[in-house]
Amino acid sequence: MGEPLVVDEPPPGLEEFRAEVRGFLDQVHELTSHASGESTLERGRAYLAARFDAGLGAIDYPVENGGRGLDNRYARAFRVEAARRKSDDRAPGFGIGLDMCLPTIRDHGSDDLRARFLASGLRGDDVWCQLYSEPGAGSDLAGLTTRAVRDGDEWVVTGQKVWTTGAADADYGILLARTDWDVPKHAGISMLVLPMRQPAVEVRALNQMTGVAHFNEIFMDGARIPADWVVGEEGDGWRLAVALLAHERSSIGAGGGRQPIPTDRIIDLARSTGRTTDPLVRQDLARLVTGTRIIQWVNQRQDLHPSIAKLWRSRQGRDASHVTSGLAFPGGAAWLGDPMGATEPGDFLGAAGSHWAYGICDSTAHSLGGGTDEVQKNTLGERVLGLPREPAPDRGLPFSQVPKNS
Ligand SMILES: Cc1cc2nc3c(=O)[nH]c(=O)nc-3n(C[C@H](O)[C@H](O)[C@H](O)COP(=O)(O)OP(=O)(O)OC[C@H]3O[C@@H](n4cnc5c(N)ncnc54)[C@H](O)[C@@H]3O)c2cc1C
Repeated sequence: MGEPLVVDEPPPGLEEFRAEVRGFLDQVHELTSHASGESTLERGRAYLAARFDAGLGAIDYPVENGGRGLDNRYARAFRVEAARRKSDDRAPGFGIGLDMCLPTIRDHGSDDLRARFLASGLRGDDVWCQLYSEPGAGSDLAGLTTRAVRDGDEWVVTGQKVWTTGAADADYGILLARTDWDVPKHAGISMLVLPMRQPAVEVRALNQMTGVAHFNEIFMDGARIPADWVVGEEGDGWRLAVALLAHERSSIGAGGGRQPIPTDRIIDLARSTGRTTDPLVRQDLARLVTGTRIIQWVNQRQDLHPSIAKLWRSRQGRDASHVTSGLAFPGGAAWLGDPMGATEPGDFLGAAGSHWAYGICDSTAHSLGGGTDEVQKNTLGERVLGLPREPAPDRGLPFSQVPKNS
């Protein structure tokens, strides 16, 4: 006989906790409602402050870091309750901080960094951005050339970042910079916290084909960082960069950031255009429904590599865009309503009605942000399937000797 099936016992007090969450969600409904008139960022800030003050800001963080000290079954219970009510428990604009930067500081930062940033970030006082990609370092992130040099009690940073989501609103950025040029490229990188609001940091908006400037270029020319705002150890930045990327992929896979056009809206579109009897359309819709369910199931598994959920989401984004294009065009190409009003993922079908074109144009980003599909597949091939690593002739060379374009 095989081992008996072990079923997880619900943790103590889960039902009481759920009731507490439902009470909280009832109270904050106004704050998350689009009718409240505030900007999305301000609505998110108000929501996070209320959630933090109710003791629900970070359910699975240690109490000393502003959390509730419960395990992730309670955190999941919160998400389930919020999803049941269709409450927006993500606070758009704060996801990079909440899902990526703060967990990395929690796990790897000094006591001082944790005390300085965790509670205020969880409350929504600070907005964060992720300063990783550069014009010459995207998929080959370890090839980054932004430089941080120690000057007394400070680091001085010079270089350029690009595609930085939300930087225009950010107070702080998690920065990868090179602090040692005489060791191989992965070994000379440090992770620092950059205060964004200083004259030596220039943020320039990048306008996208959606009509929205969702991300930015960042120019740092002698920007200053206190010496002890290094996350982890100096030179250990690559390990922490990978840890943060795992949080990012999990977050994207679980529904953070931009959303594929929702399947139920596409089914409504098929109904309203009288196409639900078309066998090809039915097949497309069935694929979308299946993809939605698979993403839900993949996210319930604790043991899967985060690149798997990320790849499913990017495929769903593309499929949803493709099916919508077929159903909505030519009318879908029109910008009905105010596309500039649709500044957040998920807002594209907002009150004005038909922002199909926004969703269609935005869908290409699913396959890029958080690492491209090809890079996810390389990662799965090498780390999960154990296939041979990609050739990397520069891996052992001091970075200063690696040939560069400029
Ligand atoms: C919506 C969005 C939001 C983003 N937000 C941020 C952010 O907040 N912060 C940040 O730092 N960056 C951000 N990025 C940048 C993103 O991480 C990069 O665009 C991504 O890592 C790819 O880098 P790249 O654009 O330089 O493309 P490249 O690396 O130049 O890739 C070009 C093409 O080559 C392929 N390729 C490259 N190397 C390989 C390989 N080894 N094997 C197979 N194929 C390969 C890629 O898959 C891609 O198709 C964002 C991007 C998008 C689209």
